[in-house]
Amino acid sequence: MQSSDIFVQDPELQAAIAGEFARQQDGIELIASENIVSPLVLAAQGSVFTNKTVEGRPYARYYGGAEFADAVEALAIERAKRLFGCRFANVQPHSGSNANAAVFLGLLKLGDVILSMDTAAGGHISHGHPATLTGRDYTIMRYGVSRQSEWIDLDDVRALAREHRPKMIVAGGSAYPRALDFAGLRAIADEVGAHLMVDMAHFAGLVATGLHPHPFPHAHVVTSTTYKSLRGARGGLVLWNDEALSSKIDGGVFPGVQGSVMMHVVAAKAACLGEALRPEFRAYNEAVLAGAKRLAETLDAAGFRLVAGGTDTGLILVDLTPKGLTGDVAAKALEKAGLAVNKNQIPFDTRPPEAPSGLRLSANAGAARGFGVDEFATVGRWIARALDAPGDAGVLGQVRDEVRTVCRQFPIYASC
Ligand SMILES: *Cc1c(COP(=O)(O)O)cnc(C)c1O
Repeated sequence: MQSSDIFVQDPELQAAIAGEFARQQDGIELIASENIVSPLVLAAQGSVFTNKTVEGRPYARYYGGAEFADAVEALAIERAKRLFGCRFANVQPHSGSNANAAVFLGLLKLGDVILSMDTAAGGHISHGHPATLTGRDYTIMRYGVSRQSEWIDLDDVRALAREHRPKMIVAGGSAYPRALDFAGLRAIADEVGAHLMVDMAHFAGLVATGLHPHPFPHAHVVTSTTYKSLRGARGGLVLWNDEALSSKIDGGVFPGVQGSVMMHVVAAKAACLGEALRPEFRAYNEAVLAGAKRLAETLDAAGFRLVAGGTDTGLILVDLTPKGLTGDVAAKALEKAGLAVNKNQIPFDTRPPEAPSGLRLSANAGAARGFGVDEFATVGRWIARALDAPGDAGVLGQVRDEVRTVCRQFPIYASC
């Protein structure tokens, strides 16, 4: 597969791919926005659909020769609808950010108010950060989390909604570990006449398997990435139930924010959505959740502080302050120990994003290679050991060797 002889003809490319394969195989990926896809997804994304250019919706294309492109996109749409129990889906967004931008473009007017979660509290940059196009084109108001509980406080969201009268309320973040109250958010949206958009990028897999509350029927629109908890293609999707929104959302995707379809990625979306409909995907998500909870408990016992007190979504935000460490130092030390994590701000962080107080972790990729709760407890102990001596090359090297040994027992692709 990744060691395939085809790369021999381009030694520089081959070296990069082989290096990346070895990095993934011999290290533990704990970054929440990553996963390890199946050979089927990998093959579909490298398939001959790479050669095909189409624009528009299935069976209504601007180019000819789209018979099989239509079939594969229709398949992905049908599977997305079945998986999430909704009436409409658009599987074309090239990324999660594009899915969100398309919904905003389709449903909002320039300058409309969006009420979304503050990035500093765990919201995602694509929900209106000032440095983005959406931040420029709409009026962005932010809600955060309660200082005491670090949970979203619906009273606070309601007060902001009443004050700013948003046309869109956005829920779902990139560093919020707790489940969301979709019914409560919808009641607020209804009160002010806003659409509720739920971005479930980090917990879509749990939603699909009934391990997390479902955003439908509360959300008007749901967006997601397909490569995090859905364990699939690199891209995004949009889901909704009201036919009156269809032409707006579809038009928001194309020609709104995108051109032609990445049909090879749509093929890989069909593949991962097909896998997600099978019983094994439920078992995988149970492993993700159980693994994350065990990892969180182990870190808690080792003296780290869990932001918001734990995790409902498999995403863990760790406050390093009790250890006298910052996220940048910790992430670098862990990388030397073969553990890939990302530094992250915590709510009300007094430290800057480059050297924040926290780390963000997830069990997605570990569970994908077969780690169970025992392995995640071991991962937690490795993290504690490495971060008790972040400048000690001997300790980090020892953990590195142990990580490699366990990784060899859980190959990411058996055939490589
Ligand atoms: C990861 C993520 C996205 C964006 O994904 P890209 O594919 O990087 O554009 C959007 N929303 C949330 C909540 C995310 O976590």
